[in-house]
Amino acid sequence: MPPVNSSNSPGTLAWPASPAPSCPVLRLLAGQTALVTGASSGIGRAIAIALGHAGANVVINYLGSPKKAEEVAKEIQRCGSRAISVAADVSKPDQVQSMFQQTVAEFGRLDILVNNAGIQLDAAFEDLTLDQWQRVIDVNLTGPFLCCQEAVRLFNKQGINPALSCAAGKILCISSVHEVIPWAGHVNYAASKGGLMLLMKSLAQEMAPRRIRVNSIAPGAIRTPINTAAWETREAYDDLLKLIPQKRIGEPEEIGRAAVWLASDQSDYVHGITLFVDGGMTLYPGFETGG
Ligand code: NDP
Repeated sequence: MPPVNSSNSPGTLAWPASPAPSCPVLRLLAGQTALVTGASSGIGRAIAIALGHAGANVVINYLGSPKKAEEVAKEIQRCGSRAISVAADVSKPDQVQSMFQQTVAEFGRLDILVNNAGIQLDAAFEDLTLDQWQRVIDVNLTGPFLCCQEAVRLFNKQGINPALSCAAGKILCISSVHEVIPWAGHVNYAASKGGLMLLMKSLAQEMAPRRIRVNSIAPGAIRTPINTAAWETREAYDDLLKLIPQKRIGEPEEIGRAAVWLASDQSDYVHGITLFVDGGMTLYPGFETGG
């Protein structure tokens, strides 16, 4: 659908249109194997499909949606790459270990890990239960820790295969603009993403001499089921745009394309960074008219 100018707010793009560019994915990952956690939906789904289009074989991890995960696998197979779906709760060590074992059994190796699975359980601070706090930390922070550990062990064992990549392995963490922007009413989520930032950076420092590259992508507001309330009505969408200098929501495919680049040798000297893909959300939009 083409973008339409909003009548009540000149220069603003009307809900639900989003003029995100449609660009081809370059085949930068031929022959490599990628594991994407939480790939049955939203951003993980788009990353898995983009990696498949880039030539990678893909393991599609999911928690409770086998049908949706299988549909992602079929879409990847249609573009000529191989794909399997694997159920695992990323916060459970035994399930994570089994997922990595299944990856190696199917594809013989792993080159790229994308820590994408994440949840929100929101509450005002005084109402936030210990269970809500713990579950978000378990999935969003302990999950990446467990997956990174399994991936690093594998990358160490495999070493560098120059026919595939000049790195021994690549790890991407899907954090959030809330790794730096505080978020009232979402203390557990913001704490998990802030923690993920220093997990990523500390791991990047430790892994650099082994040529294991570790980076993050921090999405801004992306149109997925996790934040439906922020874009599904015209009123909510207009409110959301106040936080986005580009005046449009992002699409999952835009994170997919960033992930392909960050996982490829095109970005080999990029190490330990967070790539913000947020339409300018981290630019203090409250100051865009001079403050
Ligand atoms: P969705 O809710 O669309 O997808 C979440 C995915 O995570 C699903 O595939 C779900 O699997 C999976 N999942 C949930 N819990 C677990 C678990 N314990 N183990 C394994 N998989 C699990 O969310 P998004 O695509 O929007 O979010 C993806 C990531 O991007 C998250 O880390 C989120 O924090 C981050 N992000 C999203 C933004 C946005 O605007 N959408 C902005 C900034 C960051 P299943 O469906 O099978 O249950």
